[in-house]
Amino acid sequence: MSNYDVVVIGAGPGGYVAAIRAAQLGLTTACVDRWAAATGHPSLGGTCLNVGCIPSKALLDTSHHYHAIQHAFPAHGITAGDVQLDLAKAMARKNKVVANLTRGIRGLFRKNKIDLKTGTGALLPDKQVEVRAADGTTQTLTASNIIIATGSAPITIAVAPVDGVNIVDNEGALAFDEIPSRLGIIGAGVIGLELGSVWSRFGSQVVILEALDDFLAAADRQISQQALKALKKQGLDIRLGCRVTGTQVTDGGVRVAYNSGEGEHTLEVDKLIVAVGRCPATDGLDADAAGLALDPQGRIAVDRQCRTNIEGIYAVGDVVAGPMLAHKASEEGIAVAELIAGQKPEIDHALVPWVVYTHPEIAWVGASPQQLDEQGIEYKSGTFPYMGLGRAQGAGQTDGLVKILAAAHSDRILGVHIFGANASELIGEAVTAMAFHASAEDLARIIHAHPTLSEAVHEAALAVDGRAIHI
Ligand code: FAD
Ligand code: AMP
Repeated sequence: MSNYDVVVIGAGPGGYVAAIRAAQLGLTTACVDRWAAATGHPSLGGTCLNVGCIPSKALLDTSHHYHAIQHAFPAHGITAGDVQLDLAKAMARKNKVVANLTRGIRGLFRKNKIDLKTGTGALLPDKQVEVRAADGTTQTLTASNIIIATGSAPITIAVAPVDGVNIVDNEGALAFDEIPSRLGIIGAGVIGLELGSVWSRFGSQVVILEALDDFLAAADRQISQQALKALKKQGLDIRLGCRVTGTQVTDGGVRVAYNSGEGEHTLEVDKLIVAVGRCPATDGLDADAAGLALDPQGRIAVDRQCRTNIEGIYAVGDVVAGPMLAHKASEEGIAVAELIAGQKPEIDHALVPWVVYTHPEIAWVGASPQQLDEQGIEYKSGTFPYMGLGRAQGAGQTDGLVKILAAAHSDRILGVHIFGANASELIGEAVTAMAFHASAEDLARIIHAHPTLSEAVHEAALAVDGRAIHI
Protein backbone atom coordinates (compact mmCIF):
# COMPACT_ATOMS: atom_id res chain seq x y z
CA MET A 1 0.00 0.00 0.00
CA SER A 2 1.32 3.47 -0.77
CA ASN A 3 -1.66 5.72 -0.04
CA TYR A 4 -2.20 6.68 3.61
CA ASP A 5 -4.28 8.95 5.76
CA VAL A 6 -1.08 9.87 7.60
CA VAL A 7 2.59 9.55 6.74
CA VAL A 8 4.95 10.39 9.60
CA ILE A 9 8.57 11.21 8.81
CA GLY A 10 10.83 10.31 11.74
CA ALA A 11 10.32 7.68 14.43
CA GLY A 12 11.65 9.51 17.50
CA PRO A 13 9.35 10.22 20.48
CA GLY A 14 7.53 12.82 18.38
CA GLY A 15 7.03 10.65 15.30
CA TYR A 16 6.48 7.15 16.68
CA VAL A 17 3.98 8.40 19.25
CA ALA A 18 2.14 10.42 16.56
CA ALA A 19 1.98 7.31 14.37
CA ILE A 20 0.58 5.16 17.18
CA ARG A 21 -2.04 7.75 18.13
CA ALA A 22 -3.06 8.20 14.47
CA ALA A 23 -3.45 4.44 14.07
CA GLN A 24 -5.44 4.22 17.33
CA LEU A 25 -7.82 6.77 15.85
CA GLY A 26 -8.43 4.54 12.83
CA LEU A 27 -6.20 6.39 10.37
CA THR A 28 -4.12 4.34 7.94
CA THR A 29 -0.57 5.24 8.89
CA ALA A 30 2.99 4.79 7.68
CA CYS A 31 6.14 5.96 9.43
CA VAL A 32 9.38 6.61 7.57
CA ASP A 33 12.64 6.47 9.53
CA ARG A 34 16.27 6.27 8.55
CA TRP A 35 17.95 5.39 11.84
CA ALA A 36 19.97 2.20 11.51
CA ALA A 37 21.62 0.24 14.31
CA ALA A 38 25.25 -0.90 13.96
CA THR A 39 23.84 -4.14 12.50
CA GLY A 40 22.22 -2.10 9.70
CA HIS A 41 18.74 -2.92 10.97
CA PRO A 42 16.20 -0.14 11.62
CA SER A 43 16.33 1.12 15.18
CA LEU A 44 13.23 3.10 16.04
CA GLY A 45 12.98 5.69 18.79
CA GLY A 46 15.18 8.39 17.26
CA THR A 47 17.74 10.30 19.30
CA CYS A 48 15.90 9.64 22.55
CA LEU A 49 16.11 5.87 22.51
CA ASN A 50 19.28 5.39 20.49
CA VAL A 51 21.72 8.04 21.69
CA GLY A 52 19.83 10.32 24.07
CA CYS A 53 17.50 10.03 27.04
CA ILE A 54 17.56 6.27 27.47
CA PRO A 55 21.23 5.29 27.09
CA SER A 56 22.30 8.35 29.10
CA LYS A 57 19.99 7.40 31.96
CA ALA A 58 21.14 3.77 31.82
CA LEU A 59 24.75 4.91 32.24
CA LEU A 60 23.79 7.50 34.85
CA ASP A 61 22.26 4.69 36.91
CA THR A 62 25.25 2.38 36.46
CA SER A 63 27.73 5.11 37.34
CA HIS A 64 25.58 6.17 40.29
CA HIS A 65 25.69 2.63 41.73
CA TYR A 66 29.45 2.43 41.16
CA HIS A 67 30.01 5.75 42.89
CA ALA A 68 27.53 5.10 45.69
CA ILE A 69 29.00 1.74 46.66
CA GLN A 70 32.35 3.44 47.19
CA HIS A 71 31.31 6.81 48.56
CA ALA A 72 27.77 6.62 50.00
CA PHE A 73 27.47 3.05 51.29
CA PRO A 74 30.20 3.32 53.96
CA ALA A 75 28.04 5.86 55.84
CA HIS A 76 25.38 3.12 56.04
CA GLY A 77 27.93 0.76 57.53
CA ILE A 78 28.38 -1.13 54.28
CA THR A 79 31.86 -1.51 52.87
CA ALA A 80 32.61 -3.46 49.78
CA GLY A 81 36.14 -4.72 49.27
CA ASP A 82 37.65 -4.33 45.88
CA VAL A 83 34.97 -2.62 43.79
CA GLN A 84 35.57 -3.20 40.10
CA LEU A 85 33.90 -1.66 37.09
CA ASP A 86 33.51 -3.79 33.98
CA LEU A 87 32.90 -1.01 31.47
CA ALA A 88 32.30 -3.41 28.59
CA LYS A 89 29.55 -5.08 30.60
CA ALA A 90 28.05 -1.72 31.59
CA MET A 91 27.98 -0.70 27.92
CA ALA A 92 26.50 -4.05 26.89
CA ARG A 93 23.75 -3.58 29.47
CA LYS A 94 23.05 -0.07 28.18
CA ASN A 95 22.94 -1.39 24.60
CA LYS A 96 20.52 -4.13 25.66
CA VAL A 97 18.19 -1.60 27.27
CA VAL A 98 18.23 0.40 24.03
CA ALA A 99 17.72 -2.70 21.87
CA ASN A 100 14.77 -3.89 24.01
CA LEU A 101 13.05 -0.55 23.78
CA THR A 102 13.62 0.03 20.08
CA ARG A 103 12.37 -3.52 19.38
CA GLY A 104 9.39 -2.70 21.59
CA ILE A 105 8.44 0.17 19.27
CA ARG A 106 8.54 -2.16 16.28
CA GLY A 107 6.17 -4.41 18.22
CA LEU A 108 3.86 -1.46 18.90
CA PHE A 109 3.94 -0.60 15.18
CA ARG A 110 2.93 -4.16 14.31
CA LYS A 111 0.19 -4.16 16.96
CA ASN A 112 -1.22 -0.90 15.62
CA LYS A 113 -0.79 -1.90 11.95
CA ILE A 114 1.58 0.95 11.17
CA ASP A 115 3.65 0.42 8.04
CA LEU A 116 7.32 1.06 8.70
CA LYS A 117 9.23 2.41 5.70
CA THR A 118 12.99 2.41 6.15
CA GLY A 119 14.92 5.21 4.50
CA THR A 120 15.08 8.98 4.24
CA GLY A 121 11.74 10.65 3.67
CA ALA A 122 11.75 13.57 1.21
CA LEU A 123 8.78 15.81 0.50
CA LEU A 124 7.45 15.84 -3.04
CA PRO A 125 4.64 18.11 -4.31
CA ASP A 126 1.01 17.22 -3.56
CA LYS A 127 1.66 15.61 -0.19
CA GLN A 128 3.78 12.81 -1.52
CA VAL A 129 6.78 11.43 0.31
CA GLU A 130 9.65 9.73 -1.43
CA VAL A 131 11.35 7.11 0.71
CA ARG A 132 15.00 6.80 -0.27
CA ALA A 133 16.47 3.59 1.09
CA ALA A 134 20.17 3.18 1.88
CA ASP A 135 20.54 0.77 -1.09
CA GLY A 136 19.39 3.50 -3.49
CA THR A 137 15.88 2.17 -4.11
CA THR A 138 12.96 4.56 -3.80
CA GLN A 139 9.27 4.30 -3.10
CA THR A 140 6.64 7.02 -3.29
CA LEU A 141 3.90 7.32 -0.68
CA THR A 142 0.89 9.59 -0.97
CA ALA A 143 -0.80 10.93 2.11
CA SER A 144 -3.76 13.05 3.10
CA ASN A 145 -1.63 14.34 5.97
CA ILE A 146 2.08 14.40 6.67
CA ILE A 147 3.65 14.78 10.10
CA ILE A 148 7.30 15.79 10.07
CA ALA A 149 9.16 14.65 13.19
CA THR A 150 12.75 14.61 11.97
CA GLY A 151 14.18 15.80 15.29
CA SER A 152 17.57 17.35 15.82
CA ALA A 153 21.29 16.76 15.48
CA PRO A 154 24.21 17.93 17.62
CA ILE A 155 25.44 21.44 16.84
CA THR A 156 28.96 21.32 15.49
CA ILE A 157 31.47 24.10 16.08
CA ALA A 158 34.41 24.80 13.80
CA VAL A 159 36.80 25.15 16.76
CA ALA A 160 36.19 21.53 17.81
CA PRO A 161 35.42 19.32 14.81
CA VAL A 162 34.00 15.96 15.88
CA ASP A 163 36.13 13.07 14.60
CA GLY A 164 34.29 10.37 16.54
CA VAL A 165 37.54 9.23 18.19
CA ASN A 166 39.20 12.00 20.17
CA ILE A 167 36.52 14.65 19.83
CA VAL A 168 33.02 13.22 20.12
CA ASP A 169 29.39 14.26 20.39
CA ASN A 170 26.74 12.66 22.60
CA GLU A 171 26.76 9.47 20.53
CA GLY A 172 30.50 8.90 21.00
CA ALA A 173 30.35 9.96 24.64
CA LEU A 174 27.83 7.20 25.38
CA ALA A 175 30.08 4.55 23.88
CA PHE A 176 33.67 5.09 25.10
CA ASP A 177 35.37 1.72 25.37
CA GLU A 178 37.64 2.85 28.17
CA ILE A 179 37.42 5.44 30.87
CA PRO A 180 39.29 8.57 29.80
CA SER A 181 41.52 9.71 32.66
CA ARG A 182 41.15 13.35 31.59
CA LEU A 183 37.89 14.33 29.96
CA GLY A 184 37.00 17.75 28.60
CA ILE A 185 33.44 18.81 27.85
CA ILE A 186 32.43 21.92 25.93
CA GLY A 187 29.09 23.19 27.22
CA ALA A 188 27.57 23.03 30.72
CA GLY A 189 24.03 22.50 29.45
CA VAL A 190 21.85 19.55 30.38
CA ILE A 191 23.69 17.09 28.13
CA GLY A 192 27.17 18.26 29.20
CA LEU A 193 26.27 17.96 32.89
CA GLU A 194 24.72 14.51 32.54
CA LEU A 195 27.60 13.10 30.50
CA GLY A 196 30.09 14.79 32.82
CA SER A 197 28.39 13.14 35.80
CA VAL A 198 28.57 9.69 34.19
CA TRP A 199 32.29 9.81 33.44
CA SER A 200 33.28 11.61 36.59
CA ARG A 201 31.60 8.89 38.68
CA PHE A 202 33.41 6.27 36.61
CA GLY A 203 36.68 7.98 37.59
CA SER A 204 37.52 10.54 34.88
CA GLN A 205 38.89 13.95 35.85
CA VAL A 206 36.22 16.08 34.17
CA VAL A 207 36.64 19.71 33.15
CA ILE A 208 33.57 21.44 31.70
CA LEU A 209 34.18 24.66 29.77
CA GLU A 210 31.14 26.90 29.51
CA ALA A 211 31.17 30.14 27.53
CA LEU A 212 28.47 31.83 29.60
CA ASP A 213 29.07 33.32 33.03
CA ASP A 214 25.74 32.02 34.27
CA PHE A 215 25.24 28.40 35.27
CA LEU A 216 21.95 26.82 34.06
CA ALA A 217 20.54 30.26 33.33
CA ALA A 218 17.00 28.94 32.78
CA ALA A 219 16.79 27.45 36.28
CA ASP A 220 15.91 29.25 39.51
CA ARG A 221 19.05 31.18 40.57
CA GLN A 222 19.14 29.83 44.14
CA ILE A 223 18.83 26.29 42.83
CA SER A 224 21.40 26.68 40.06
CA GLN A 225 23.90 28.05 42.60
CA GLN A 226 23.29 25.17 45.02
CA ALA A 227 23.55 22.69 42.17
CA LEU A 228 26.81 24.24 40.95
CA LYS A 229 28.26 23.96 44.44
CA ALA A 230 27.15 20.33 44.82
CA LEU A 231 28.47 19.31 41.40
CA LYS A 232 31.82 21.00 42.03
CA LYS A 233 32.03 19.20 45.37
CA GLN A 234 31.52 15.93 43.50
CA GLY A 235 34.65 16.73 41.50
CA LEU A 236 33.22 18.25 38.32
CA ASP A 237 35.55 21.12 37.43
CA ILE A 238 33.04 23.52 35.88
CA ARG A 239 34.71 26.63 34.46
CA LEU A 240 32.21 29.35 33.62
CA GLY A 241 32.95 32.23 31.27
CA CYS A 242 35.40 30.03 29.34
CA ARG A 243 34.96 29.98 25.57
CA VAL A 244 36.76 27.31 23.59
CA THR A 245 38.70 28.93 20.75
CA GLY A 246 40.53 25.97 19.22
CA THR A 247 41.49 22.33 19.52
CA GLN A 248 44.38 20.24 18.33
CA VAL A 249 44.42 16.46 18.27
CA THR A 250 47.74 15.30 19.72
CA ASP A 251 49.34 11.89 20.28
CA GLY A 252 47.96 11.71 23.76
CA GLY A 253 44.51 13.18 23.09
CA VAL A 254 43.31 16.72 22.54
CA ARG A 255 44.80 20.11 23.39
CA VAL A 256 41.97 22.58 23.98
CA ALA A 257 42.52 26.34 23.78
CA TYR A 258 40.07 28.54 25.62
CA ASN A 259 39.62 32.13 26.66
CA SER A 260 38.50 32.86 30.21
CA GLY A 261 38.00 36.57 29.71
CA GLU A 262 41.20 37.14 31.65
CA GLY A 263 43.44 35.41 29.15
CA GLU A 264 44.18 32.42 26.95
CA HIS A 265 44.57 28.95 28.47
CA THR A 266 45.15 25.41 27.29
CA LEU A 267 43.79 22.19 28.64
CA GLU A 268 45.14 18.73 27.81
CA VAL A 269 42.55 15.94 27.78
CA ASP A 270 42.32 12.36 26.54
CA LYS A 271 38.84 12.86 25.09
CA LEU A 272 36.74 15.90 24.39
CA ILE A 273 32.94 15.92 24.27
CA VAL A 274 31.22 18.67 22.30
CA ALA A 275 27.86 19.35 23.98
CA VAL A 276 26.99 22.84 22.78
CA GLY A 277 23.36 22.22 21.96
CA ARG A 278 21.31 20.74 19.14
CA CYS A 279 19.97 22.04 15.84
CA PRO A 280 16.84 21.06 13.90
CA ALA A 281 17.32 18.19 11.43
CA THR A 282 15.82 19.10 8.07
CA ASP A 283 18.50 17.60 5.83
CA GLY A 284 17.15 15.11 3.33
CA LEU A 285 13.60 16.45 3.64
CA ASP A 286 13.86 18.67 0.55
CA ALA A 287 11.89 21.24 2.52
CA ASP A 288 12.89 24.10 0.20
CA ALA A 289 11.80 22.36 -2.97
CA ALA A 290 8.48 21.52 -1.35
CA GLY A 291 7.99 25.17 -0.32
CA LEU A 292 8.00 24.41 3.40
CA ALA A 293 8.69 27.56 5.44
CA LEU A 294 11.47 27.53 8.03
CA ASP A 295 11.93 30.08 10.82
CA PRO A 296 15.14 32.14 11.19
CA GLN A 297 16.65 29.41 13.40
CA GLY A 298 16.20 26.82 10.64
CA ARG A 299 13.32 25.09 12.42
CA ILE A 300 10.13 24.23 10.56
CA ALA A 301 7.78 27.16 11.12
CA VAL A 302 4.51 26.07 12.75
CA ASP A 303 1.53 27.67 14.44
CA ARG A 304 0.31 26.76 17.94
CA GLN A 305 -1.21 23.57 16.58
CA CYS A 306 1.92 22.46 14.77
CA ARG A 307 0.54 23.35 11.32
CA THR A 308 3.17 24.31 8.75
CA ASN A 309 2.56 26.77 5.91
CA ILE A 310 1.37 23.88 3.71
CA GLU A 311 -2.15 22.65 4.36
CA GLY A 312 -2.14 19.05 5.63
CA ILE A 313 1.55 19.11 6.61
CA TYR A 314 2.40 19.34 10.33
CA ALA A 315 5.68 19.30 12.24
CA VAL A 316 6.41 18.32 15.86
CA GLY A 317 9.26 17.86 18.32
CA ASP A 318 12.85 19.07 18.15
CA VAL A 319 12.45 20.20 14.54
CA VAL A 320 10.05 22.98 15.62
CA ALA A 321 10.32 25.74 18.22
CA GLY A 322 10.19 25.01 21.94
CA PRO A 323 12.23 22.98 24.39
CA MET A 324 14.09 20.07 22.83
CA LEU A 325 12.61 17.45 25.14
CA ALA A 326 11.19 14.02 24.38
CA HIS A 327 7.92 14.50 26.30
CA LYS A 328 7.24 17.80 24.53
CA ALA A 329 7.78 16.02 21.18
CA SER A 330 5.41 13.19 22.14
CA GLU A 331 2.64 15.50 23.35
CA GLU A 332 2.82 17.45 20.10
CA GLY A 333 2.71 14.18 18.16
CA ILE A 334 -0.43 13.06 19.99
CA ALA A 335 -2.09 16.44 19.58
CA VAL A 336 -1.46 16.53 15.82
CA ALA A 337 -2.82 13.01 15.31
CA GLU A 338 -5.95 14.01 17.24
CA LEU A 339 -6.27 17.23 15.26
CA ILE A 340 -6.10 15.27 12.00
CA ALA A 341 -8.80 12.94 13.34
CA GLY A 342 -11.06 15.93 13.93
CA GLN A 343 -10.54 16.34 17.67
CA LYS A 344 -9.65 19.60 19.43
CA PRO A 345 -6.47 18.91 21.39
CA GLU A 346 -4.66 21.62 23.39
CA ILE A 347 -1.05 21.60 24.54
CA ASP A 348 -0.01 23.90 27.31
CA HIS A 349 3.60 24.62 26.42
CA ALA A 350 3.95 26.60 29.65
CA LEU A 351 3.69 23.33 31.56
CA VAL A 352 6.54 21.36 30.02
CA PRO A 353 8.65 20.03 32.90
CA TRP A 354 12.45 20.24 32.68
CA VAL A 355 14.75 17.75 34.36
CA VAL A 356 18.52 17.58 34.66
CA TYR A 357 19.48 14.06 35.76
CA THR A 358 22.54 14.98 37.80
CA HIS A 359 22.71 13.84 41.39
CA PRO A 360 20.88 15.37 43.07
CA GLU A 361 18.46 16.01 40.22
CA ILE A 362 17.25 19.44 39.13
CA ALA A 363 13.67 19.86 37.89
CA TRP A 364 11.31 22.71 37.29
CA VAL A 365 8.05 23.67 35.68
CA GLY A 366 6.51 27.06 34.99
CA ALA A 367 8.07 30.42 35.66
CA SER A 368 11.31 31.18 37.50
CA PRO A 369 11.65 34.13 39.90
CA GLN A 370 13.82 35.87 37.28
CA GLN A 371 11.04 35.58 34.68
CA LEU A 372 8.36 36.80 37.09
CA ASP A 373 10.54 39.75 38.09
CA GLU A 374 11.14 40.62 34.43
CA GLN A 375 7.40 40.48 33.74
CA GLY A 376 6.62 42.53 36.85
CA ILE A 377 4.37 39.79 38.25
CA GLU A 378 4.02 39.90 42.04
CA TYR A 379 4.50 36.56 43.72
CA LYS A 380 5.04 34.84 47.04
CA SER A 381 7.57 32.11 47.47
CA GLY A 382 7.85 29.15 49.82
CA THR A 383 10.92 26.96 50.13
CA PHE A 384 11.63 23.84 52.10
CA PRO A 385 15.02 22.13 52.43
CA TYR A 386 15.45 18.37 52.05
CA MET A 387 17.38 18.57 55.33
CA GLY A 388 14.06 18.98 57.13
CA LEU A 389 12.69 15.66 55.86
CA GLY A 390 12.89 12.49 57.92
CA ARG A 391 12.99 10.41 54.75
CA ALA A 392 15.85 12.45 53.27
CA GLN A 393 17.83 12.10 56.51
CA GLY A 394 17.22 8.36 56.58
CA ALA A 395 18.34 8.01 52.99
CA GLY A 396 21.32 10.31 53.43
CA GLN A 397 19.94 12.58 50.70
CA THR A 398 19.75 15.89 52.53
CA ASP A 399 21.07 18.16 49.76
CA GLY A 400 18.39 20.23 48.08
CA LEU A 401 15.17 22.16 48.37
CA VAL A 402 11.73 22.63 46.89
CA LYS A 403 10.61 26.15 45.97
CA ILE A 404 7.06 27.07 45.07
CA LEU A 405 6.15 30.42 43.53
CA ALA A 406 2.53 31.54 43.77
CA ALA A 407 0.74 34.67 42.54
CA ALA A 408 0.68 37.31 45.28
CA HIS A 409 -3.07 37.88 45.11
CA SER A 410 -4.68 34.70 43.75
CA ASP A 411 -2.18 32.22 45.31
CA ARG A 412 -2.19 30.31 41.99
CA ILE A 413 1.01 28.32 41.54
CA LEU A 414 3.20 29.93 38.88
CA GLY A 415 6.34 27.82 39.11
CA VAL A 416 7.88 24.95 41.05
CA HIS A 417 11.63 24.41 41.29
CA ILE A 418 13.26 21.38 42.83
CA PHE A 419 16.86 20.45 43.50
CA GLY A 420 17.20 17.16 45.29
CA ALA A 421 16.93 13.39 45.10
CA ASN A 422 14.04 12.17 42.91
CA ALA A 423 13.25 15.69 41.67
CA SER A 424 12.38 14.09 38.30
CA GLU A 425 9.50 12.22 39.94
CA LEU A 426 8.44 14.94 42.40
CA ILE A 427 7.99 17.47 39.61
CA GLY A 428 5.05 15.40 38.31
CA GLU A 429 2.91 16.48 41.23
CA ALA A 430 3.71 20.11 40.49
CA VAL A 431 2.79 19.72 36.81
CA THR A 432 -0.51 18.08 37.75
CA ALA A 433 -1.31 20.76 40.30
CA MET A 434 -0.52 23.54 37.85
CA ALA A 435 -2.51 21.88 35.05
CA PHE A 436 -5.52 22.00 37.38
CA HIS A 437 -4.75 25.67 38.18
CA ALA A 438 -4.08 24.77 41.81
CA SER A 439 -3.22 27.34 44.43
CA ALA A 440 -0.39 26.82 46.91
CA GLU A 441 -3.16 26.44 49.51
CA ASP A 442 -4.59 23.50 47.51
CA LEU A 443 -1.25 21.68 47.63
CA ALA A 444 -0.84 22.56 51.29
CA ARG A 445 -4.18 20.91 52.09
CA ILE A 446 -3.44 17.66 50.23
CA ILE A 447 -2.27 14.77 52.42
CA HIS A 448 1.23 13.58 51.53
CA ALA A 449 2.46 10.20 52.75
CA HIS A 450 5.02 10.16 55.53
CA PRO A 451 7.92 9.65 55.37
CA THR A 452 8.45 10.60 51.74
CA LEU A 453 10.42 13.14 49.79
CA SER A 454 7.10 14.47 48.50
CA GLU A 455 6.61 16.03 51.93
CA ALA A 456 9.07 18.70 50.77
CA VAL A 457 6.50 19.76 48.15
CA HIS A 458 3.82 19.85 50.82
CA GLU A 459 5.99 21.83 53.23
CA ALA A 460 7.05 24.28 50.50
CA ALA A 461 3.36 24.87 49.74
CA LEU A 462 2.76 25.53 53.46
CA ALA A 463 5.81 27.81 53.47
CA VAL A 464 4.23 30.02 50.80
CA ASP A 465 1.86 31.07 53.59
CA GLY A 466 4.62 31.09 56.21
CA ARG A 467 3.36 27.98 58.00
CA ALA A 468 5.76 25.16 57.15
CA ILE A 469 5.92 22.82 60.13
CA HIS A 470 9.40 21.33 60.14
CA ILE A 471 11.48 24.45 59.71
P1 FAD B 1 14.41 12.57 17.34
O1 FAD B 1 14.38 11.76 18.57
O2 FAD B 1 15.69 13.25 16.98
O3 FAD B 1 13.97 11.58 16.16
C1 FAD B 1 13.97 11.96 14.82
C2 FAD B 1 14.02 10.72 13.96
O4 FAD B 1 13.81 11.10 12.61
C3 FAD B 1 15.36 10.00 13.98
O5 FAD B 1 15.16 8.62 14.05
C4 FAD B 1 16.00 10.38 12.66
O6 FAD B 1 16.90 9.40 12.15
C5 FAD B 1 14.77 10.47 11.78
N1 FAD B 1 14.90 11.31 10.58
C6 FAD B 1 15.40 12.57 10.49
N2 FAD B 1 15.27 13.04 9.23
C7 FAD B 1 14.66 12.05 8.53
C8 FAD B 1 14.22 11.93 7.20
N3 FAD B 1 14.33 12.94 6.32
N4 FAD B 1 13.65 10.77 6.83
C9 FAD B 1 13.49 9.74 7.70
N5 FAD B 1 13.86 9.81 8.97
C10 FAD B 1 14.44 10.95 9.38
N6 FAD B 1 14.97 14.68 26.40
C11 FAD B 1 14.22 14.43 27.50
O7 FAD B 1 13.03 14.79 27.52
N7 FAD B 1 14.74 13.80 28.59
C12 FAD B 1 16.02 13.40 28.64
O8 FAD B 1 16.47 12.84 29.63
C13 FAD B 1 16.84 13.65 27.52
N8 FAD B 1 18.12 13.25 27.51
C14 FAD B 1 18.88 13.46 26.41
C15 FAD B 1 20.21 13.03 26.43
C16 FAD B 1 21.01 13.21 25.33
C17 FAD B 1 22.44 12.75 25.37
C18 FAD B 1 20.46 13.81 24.15
C19 FAD B 1 21.30 13.98 22.92
C20 FAD B 1 19.14 14.23 24.11
C21 FAD B 1 18.34 14.07 25.24
N9 FAD B 1 17.01 14.50 25.27
C22 FAD B 1 16.27 14.29 26.39
C23 FAD B 1 16.38 15.17 24.12
C24 FAD B 1 15.52 14.18 23.34
O9 FAD B 1 16.32 13.12 22.89
C25 FAD B 1 14.87 14.89 22.16
O10 FAD B 1 14.16 16.02 22.61
C26 FAD B 1 13.89 13.96 21.45
O11 FAD B 1 14.54 12.81 20.97
C27 FAD B 1 13.21 14.68 20.29
O12 FAD B 1 12.32 13.82 19.67
P2 FAD B 1 11.95 13.96 18.12
O13 FAD B 1 10.98 12.88 17.85
O14 FAD B 1 11.57 15.36 17.84
O15 FAD B 1 13.30 13.71 17.32
P1 AMP C 1 22.56 23.44 25.82
O1 AMP C 1 22.13 24.31 24.67
O2 AMP C 1 21.69 23.52 27.03
O3 AMP C 1 22.82 22.02 25.41
O4 AMP C 1 23.97 24.01 26.29
C1 AMP C 1 25.08 24.18 25.42
C2 AMP C 1 26.06 25.11 26.11
O5 AMP C 1 27.29 25.16 25.38
C3 AMP C 1 25.57 26.55 26.19
O6 AMP C 1 25.48 26.92 27.54
C4 AMP C 1 26.63 27.36 25.46
O7 AMP C 1 26.91 28.59 26.11
C5 AMP C 1 27.87 26.47 25.51
N1 AMP C 1 28.83 26.75 24.45
C6 AMP C 1 28.58 26.94 23.12
N2 AMP C 1 29.73 27.18 22.42
C7 AMP C 1 30.75 27.13 23.33
C8 AMP C 1 32.20 27.29 23.24
N3 AMP C 1 32.84 27.52 22.09
N4 AMP C 1 32.92 27.18 24.40
C9 AMP C 1 32.30 26.92 25.58
N5 AMP C 1 30.95 26.77 25.72
C10 AMP C 1 30.18 26.86 24.61
